[in-house]
Amino acid sequence: MNQNRGINQDVTQEMNRSLLLKSLRREGVCSRAHLASLTGLKQATVTNIMKDFLNWGIVKEVGFLNGSKGRRSIGVSINPDGYRVIGVRLARKHYSVGLFDLTGKQIVKERVDFEPEKQPGAEEILNQIVGRMRLLIQQYGKDSVLAAGLAVPGPFIAKKSRIALITGADIWKDIELKAFFEREMDIPVFLEHNANAGAYAHMWDLKEAYHDDILVYIAAGQGIGAGIVMNGRIYEGALGTSGEIGHMTIDRNGKPCACGNRGCLERYASSLELVKTVYGQRAGMEGCNFEDLEQQIRSGDTAYTEHYRRACESLGVGIINIVNVINPDRIIIGDDMARPNPELMEKTVRETVQKGILPDVFDELTLSISTYQGDPILTGAAIVAIDRVFDSPGQFIQN
Ligand SMILES: [Zn+2]
Repeated sequence: MNQNRGINQDVTQEMNRSLLLKSLRREGVCSRAHLASLTGLKQATVTNIMKDFLNWGIVKEVGFLNGSKGRRSIGVSINPDGYRVIGVRLARKHYSVGLFDLTGKQIVKERVDFEPEKQPGAEEILNQIVGRMRLLIQQYGKDSVLAAGLAVPGPFIAKKSRIALITGADIWKDIELKAFFEREMDIPVFLEHNANAGAYAHMWDLKEAYHDDILVYIAAGQGIGAGIVMNGRIYEGALGTSGEIGHMTIDRNGKPCACGNRGCLERYASSLELVKTVYGQRAGMEGCNFEDLEQQIRSGDTAYTEHYRRACESLGVGIINIVNVINPDRIIIGDDMARPNPELMEKTVRETVQKGILPDVFDELTLSISTYQGDPILTGAAIVAIDRVFDSPGQFIQN
């Protein structure tokens, strides 16, 4: 019986630690008294846990704060020089590996482009990623890098940790990613769908989003996915494949898709598809990549801009369906497709959606293009790892 009580105490202790770290992360700098009032924990509990946190180096004291009645108290914050996590983003034709502090700030980042058709295979790319991760751990110290988060394109079957299909990149199909990273790495690696990772990053960044019940982040890049956040948590679905809006039908007699369906959103509004539409046979060859297209649109090429506008219109049709199904408070569109002309994208999507949904619903919807600095999917991958560390900090740091 005593032993049970011991376990329960440990569980409560770990829950309190988690609550405090998450509150502190949101607040930035905070006094112990304010943390106690925010979390409802006793001041003595906060003080005790903070003592451990300072010893571990996960928080630091940052000088005095002026409180009410002229009282001054010591401010504490997450220690950006303490522990680290690794974020990895795996996309169809590139991957990025970055190191982040526990506030979610990027320390270093490296991006590598590859041609899926030309590589020796997925294993080789994964080995490169592992090599870069190991190098970061070597450089920053084995004890300071706590975990890694990996954002992958989908449909990603979260429950089986495997990508079911990536249109245009068959090499990833059926690879047991989680098993691979567990075998190769000494730190825990957490996998998340890339759109979900992007949604996490926006949620961390956007104070207002904490008050939204439902936020949808749309990653419109080489593929299209959505991260759906309900009451602060990602809505996963039964297998973890929710938000696969790239394979939503917008024209049932439309272009065939690798998923077996026809008229999927991805075939009209992804950056891969736009490149194909614009460059035809030359797509992907030198001077015929999305970056080239982006440049042309930015410099005002009318024909290319019209193709882009139509893709945005298709995205708008997809968004009408999302709004009708889940009625979110806020939709944020990001990734490659949001870059060439965000103003035109916002205008086109807004007009399309307005025409397609009830005025009452439209009036209450906040629709915007992401202004996130940096790559939210890569940062989101790191945040997934940080979030796990903050869920049970003792487990990551004491062991
Ligand atoms: Zn499809």
